[in-house]
Amino acid sequence: MNPVVSNTIDAIQSVIGSEPALLHTPVFEANELAYVSKCVTTGWVSSVGSFVTRFEEMLSGITGAAKAIACSSGTSALFISLKLVGIEPDDEVLIPALTFVATANAVSHCGAIPHLVDVAETTLGIDCTKLERYLKAHTVIKSGRTYNKHTSRPITAIVPMHCFGHPSAMAQILELANEFNLKVVEDAAESLGSYLGEQHTGTFGDIAAVSFNGNKIVTTGGGGAILTNNIELGNRAKHLTTTAKVPHQWNFFHDTVGYNLRMPNLNAALGCGQLEQLKNFVDLKRTLANQYQTAFESVDHISFVAEPPGSRSNYWLNAILLDKAHAHLRDELLQATNERQIMTRPAWEPMQSLPMYQSCPAMDLSQCDSVQSRLINIPSGVSIAQRVPVFDNEGDEDIC
Ligand SMILES: *Cc1c(COP(=O)(O)O)cnc(C)c1O
Repeated sequence: MNPVVSNTIDAIQSVIGSEPALLHTPVFEANELAYVSKCVTTGWVSSVGSFVTRFEEMLSGITGAAKAIACSSGTSALFISLKLVGIEPDDEVLIPALTFVATANAVSHCGAIPHLVDVAETTLGIDCTKLERYLKAHTVIKSGRTYNKHTSRPITAIVPMHCFGHPSAMAQILELANEFNLKVVEDAAESLGSYLGEQHTGTFGDIAAVSFNGNKIVTTGGGGAILTNNIELGNRAKHLTTTAKVPHQWNFFHDTVGYNLRMPNLNAALGCGQLEQLKNFVDLKRTLANQYQTAFESVDHISFVAEPPGSRSNYWLNAILLDKAHAHLRDELLQATNERQIMTRPAWEPMQSLPMYQSCPAMDLSQCDSVQSRLINIPSGVSIAQRVPVFDNEGDEDIC
């Protein structure tokens, strides 16, 4: 076995032990069951119920967003967010090429066209310096709108995605958005509990989407949420996701073509139990990440992907990166770790590799391709983090 591969296995096992380890499994050890039971015993299981409101209030409290609207999935939250900022059919929307397919799909569901942007190795998010150069060269601005010179279509929004929980460079993205007349819709699906400075991800742009799928840092089974500081947008988000029904005691009057994309009370109940533990989950995951980082300091040719300076990541998925000269070892690493029941996997196939997005407008995506060919996600869930001993700073843990 190549020493890079065996050293990687040793580094991972020195942190999490040699028991089998999955990538990210949910943990339900607090009030989840009690809250879900309450839905069943009271009959409030569906799209109306007190847990939905409570879940939204908790999310507002945690993120600082003025409005949080619970939805049926992260994808639906992203789709409605794009619609609400005014994305129209045949608009182009800038998205990172390295993302989960939902980012591109939400753009397509609006009838718009994803325009693929390269990523920076440091944040794994949009490379703003490269994007600025590209936009200057390939767009024209006419009466306050930015057009793609080659397709003549308007470019109307940018969707930064906080990859694996690591915040994208929002200050630069907001500057670019301002210069090129772009709405900013954050794909914060992976970054609940992640901050840039003191500000929670998903509160920088016009609107944002979070996901509560089973593999995310906290889960509702399936679900998502829209975050915004714009009360008017928030109210419209709620209206659109609840069939555009005008509230009334008994009348069913709907004032536009709405959607049924509301989170059921059952799911919100699970989510309330989970959100109560978010802070604890983030602390555990940050301790795990810290241990991995230390362990990988002594592994040649591999670096641990650390949070960008000035940020506090939730470390949703830990990632390691082979150096360029050793990219060819990726598949051997995946094979050897999975054989030892250490679940690892590569980053998503980039959007330009998928049949439906391969002919999208795109800039040079060489950094994305490079990172994608060298990156591996390693076990990261709360249940894995719970295996790592936590020593508090006071040094006053029980000695038996
Ligand atoms: C999980 C995820 C989504 C959407 O989530 P669903 O809840 O599964 O629809 C969107 N974008 C990114 C980057 C994600 O990781």
